[in-house]
Amino acid sequence: KQTMRLEKLLAHAGHGTRSEIKRMVKNGLIQVNDRPIKDGGMQVHPEQDRITVDGQIVRYREFMYLMLNKPQGVISATEDSRERTVLDLLDESYAHYELFPVGRLDKDTEGLLLLTNDGKLAHNLLSPRKHVAKMYFAEVDGLVTVKDQEIFQSGVTLDDGYLTMPAQLNILEAGDPDKGVVAKIELTIQEGKFHQVKRMFEAVGKRVVFLKRISMGTLLLDEYLAPGAYRELTEIELAQLQ
Ligand code: URA
Repeated sequence: KQTMRLEKLLAHAGHGTRSEIKRMVKNGLIQVNDRPIKDGGMQVHPEQDRITVDGQIVRYREFMYLMLNKPQGVISATEDSRERTVLDLLDESYAHYELFPVGRLDKDTEGLLLLTNDGKLAHNLLSPRKHVAKMYFAEVDGLVTVKDQEIFQSGVTLDDGYLTMPAQLNILEAGDPDKGVVAKIELTIQEGKFHQVKRMFEAVGKRVVFLKRISMGTLLLDEYLAPGAYRELTEIELAQLQ
């Protein structure tokens, strides 16, 4: 890691806005290697220099990893002129990390969404060649059968002619369309085509009425996270994911 501007490092480490940091510098609250600093533009080395704010050591972190239980009604984008995005759910203290969602969930889909600024990890998780497994829970309007299980296992042709890779369908409750009872299933896919789960069920004449992502690779949605809630990944979760 190269040197960077002191002000930038402090902003990234969550020590306030640019103007707050400027004021702290002016007031002599910032020290680098035990000397008060008057120039916020000074170049510092995040790992080698000892930087303190009001006597407290500054811990600099380049990467951030958040697990979000995406609620319905927000979109998986970093900005949008009309819609609320997943970034709007986060506390302001995360703003400087410039996080982005790893992959996309539909506006009406809930569940596991990883937010990070680690482009390399994101690329690895999304690369079609890596076949990272994603498990979804779904409620389906229609009777889900063993035949569907076999079709999904051998690959189903979507509306645009694409043949899906083998997917594992686990039927939790078959459903009873005549009584208006939806089926409950888990589906594991290794790819991420646009609206893939919904389109796979459409291909067998059934409609997904509720969709939630449960896992992505080794990362499992924390069941204590209510829709809209999030937390940082643990070190173990991160190590497993890398
Ligand atoms: N498949 C879908 O159809 N929608 C999602 O949001 C994710 C997978």
